[in-house]
Amino acid sequence: MSDTLVVNEIFLSLQGESTWAGLPCVFVRLTACHLRCSYCDTAYAFTEGRKQTLNEVLARVRELAKPFQSEAGPARLPLVEVTGGEPLLQPNSLVLLKALCDDGFTVLLETSGTVDLSGVDARVRRIMDLKCPASGESDRNHWPNLRHLRHTDEIKFVIASQEDYHWARKIIAERNLARLCPVLFSWAVPLLQAQQNRSLNPIPAGHTPITRQQLAERLLADALPVRFQVQMHKIIWPADARGV
Ligand code: SF4
Repeated sequence: MSDTLVVNEIFLSLQGESTWAGLPCVFVRLTACHLRCSYCDTAYAFTEGRKQTLNEVLARVRELAKPFQSEAGPARLPLVEVTGGEPLLQPNSLVLLKALCDDGFTVLLETSGTVDLSGVDARVRRIMDLKCPASGESDRNHWPNLRHLRHTDEIKFVIASQEDYHWARKIIAERNLARLCPVLFSWAVPLLQAQQNRSLNPIPAGHTPITRQQLAERLLADALPVRFQVQMHKIIWPADARGV
């Protein structure tokens, strides 16, 4: 197997949407995704990218991380997150994740939940989506992945409609998800016109939009064991900014 990956971008920013939100993080965004979620804000990663060797990727991550080396603290900063697209579509993503762990980084993986993650290095913190109906991809959820999650992982529901909320609430109860790991509810930010890629799924007919405030109030009223979150980077920088 060659040791290359197709990389969309590598950049330093703040982790924006998980229990790690707010911490400095180097992001490695890999190219390609087999899904077309209706709310996807990274359609540019479907095809744009450049082949890089594993050593080139590691060298760039180390370079971006270097200014933090003198910082003492309980967790080594910056974090490193491998994201996409769907990073697990590239077999060498597993090699990259292991190499980053071997380097001593705290490594996060953002994955769609539709690809088997059992081969991911056990030191990696997996942030796994469960695709709700409004994404147009909920039939693709790879449910056996739930067996592989640990308390250090996280499950994320991106909620775009009232129907998504009811679906997520039902799944959490049926599968007792809160006992597995933290569960995140992320409100789907409506796409700007420039982000509306024509290949994305339409929102299925019959869905009723949910506002950020409605989502927050519903989960409180229903006493759901979840963490509400907003995409912090979209509040700090323009919602369509890349590399942040
Ligand atoms: S899984 Fe969905 S949201 Fe994530 S990159 Fe693919 S299409 Fe976009």
